[in-house]
Amino acid sequence: MTRTVVTGGAGFLGSHLCERLLADGHEVIALDNFVTGAPNNVEHLLEHDRFRLVKTDVTEYVHVPGPVDEVLHFASPASPIDYLLLPIETMKVGSIGTLHALGLAKEKGARFLLASTSEAYGDPQVHPQPETYWGHVNPVGPRGVYDEAKRFAEALTMAYRRTHDVDTAIVRIFNTHGPRMRPNDGRAIPAFASQALTGRPLTVAGDGSQTRSIIYVDDLITGILALLRSDLSGPVNIGNPHETSVLHLAETIRALTGSSSDIVFVERPVDDPTVRQPDITLARTQLGWEPTVGFEEGLSRTLGWFRAHPELVP
Ligand code: NAD
Repeated sequence: MTRTVVTGGAGFLGSHLCERLLADGHEVIALDNFVTGAPNNVEHLLEHDRFRLVKTDVTEYVHVPGPVDEVLHFASPASPIDYLLLPIETMKVGSIGTLHALGLAKEKGARFLLASTSEAYGDPQVHPQPETYWGHVNPVGPRGVYDEAKRFAEALTMAYRRTHDVDTAIVRIFNTHGPRMRPNDGRAIPAFASQALTGRPLTVAGDGSQTRSIIYVDDLITGILALLRSDLSGPVNIGNPHETSVLHLAETIRALTGSSSDIVFVERPVDDPTVRQPDITLARTQLGWEPTVGFEEGLSRTLGWFRAHPELVP
């Protein structure tokens, strides 16, 4: 049994991580300030005697009494709507929050895992993206607050590894979907799902030819835990290489929901990546991991969750 701290533990991915770690028999301490997550994401775990949820802003301090074996740093606004509304908070949690989380790992001699992102590749000029690609990010555009915060967090993580010998790992997470995504978080899948389920037009950005590669959350969590329990430092891409255009994604969601909504085209956000596809050779060969949930199967599961929670669909 390990004693694991998850920052951002009440968020979408954090809640799935806490759930899986508990199911695997570990003790979990979730730290969250609920800026984009909510206690109800982990309400079902609160009765567990190996789970604690502590309201903490990790940019202020990170203090956990007793031994800690692993620190998983997932706190950060993550959807464009959130980080465009919270630009300074996003940069603070990527910088000062990461510094505090690394400090905890150093103090406790714990393994540290940073949740980085495919956005570290920006609008990529190499396709698909291997971990060796340095990326193409606009630091002064509106999305720079998220992309550069994560790039800074990666650099800080490597500095703690080299300077303080902290046992670190970096995962670059590609677009993930599943239960407990917020229907109004602005990402394509929840937007299309709530539009299709309420009979409103599906709003596709640009002409919809830009591509995304989406992974179902269960596959992602399995990949992250494989990295955590390995001795790799990363960065390691965890994503599903199945690539789809955004228009095809909208059409698939419309078909799977049986909706007769129209598809309409709206303006594309500034610096929206044109292509996105992970090269997962490293995870396949070094972790023996690859995704197992197919494109339509994963979408059906996520849509099932949205259907079961009509009260959340705007
Ligand atoms: P989320 O917004 O659902 O979860 C983030 C959590 O962090 C929230 O519960 C929020 O309240 C918390 N948080 C934010 N600032 C904090 C602070 N200062 N102190 C304490 N808690 C704070 O987002 P998510 O989709 O679950 O993303 C989790 C992590 O994974 C993020 O670091 C994100 O960058 C990364 N990631 C997610 C995706 C994805 O597809 N969901 C892709 C790439 C990377």
